[in-house]
Amino acid sequence: MGKNKEFIIDNFQSLLNECKSLKRKLDSVNYSKRTKFYAWIKKRQKLELTEDDCYEVELDHFDKRDLKQIIQIICNELLKLIPPRKRKHAQKLISNFRLPSEELTWEKLNSVSSAQSLPAESKGQCATCAKKISWWSFFSKYTDDRNNQFCSRSCYEEFNDLICDKCQIKIFDTPYYVNKEEKEGVICFDCANTKCLGCRKTIPHSVGYFQKLLPGPGGKKETSNDSENHLPFCKACQAKKEH
Ligand SMILES: [Zn+2]
Ligand SMILES: [Zn+2]
Ligand SMILES: [Zn+2]
Repeated sequence: MGKNKEFIIDNFQSLLNECKSLKRKLDSVNYSKRTKFYAWIKKRQKLELTEDDCYEVELDHFDKRDLKQIIQIICNELLKLIPPRKRKHAQKLISNFRLPSEELTWEKLNSVSSAQSLPAESKGQCATCAKKISWWSFFSKYTDDRNNQFCSRSCYEEFNDLICDKCQIKIFDTPYYVNKEEKEGVICFDCANTKCLGCRKTIPHSVGYFQKLLPGPGGKKETSNDSENHLPFCKACQAKKEH
């Protein structure tokens, strides 16, 4: 075994132990979500640095298992802190190790909702806040049709309600999506539409406007200056203007 490899295995084992004890510590004390978030981002950063050393070394079965476990703990614990509707988008960013941890801000991970909410990981826990569901609430528990359990009415609602990513108001009718294919970026009718400057008819905002609302694939907001100068006109008024 080369010196380099020994060093890496030591790193993995100690990082795995650190992650396990951090999980125990954070589960037992009532820290704020943000505090927990930064503690886990620090572990992700450490993993990033350790991973950089790995490229030259062939990992064997046990190292791979440790590495997998570390990634799993970090991703799960980070996701627990994010609201269920935003977990799908956050998961993509967290598990993409080409994205440096310092770019994963709390705001970025909490900015994009999707059509599908993801439950917190394990059984016997509230799907929204990951609190253990006690035996007595077994009888009065909130359960949805996908068999997710919830500790309270508000957690049940948080899991199922659609909230507009722009104005933060609850959506009752069909939502609009900034990214239609992935059904991400939930927008209410009022935020999705505007009035034609010519005839005052209600028309959808331009594509450029939608793109500006949410962070792009890299987690960065896309800035396009063209769309800012775009004035909304319906097709009929647009045609009239061009003649
Ligand atoms: Zn809960
Ligand atoms: Zn809205
Ligand atoms: Zn018009």
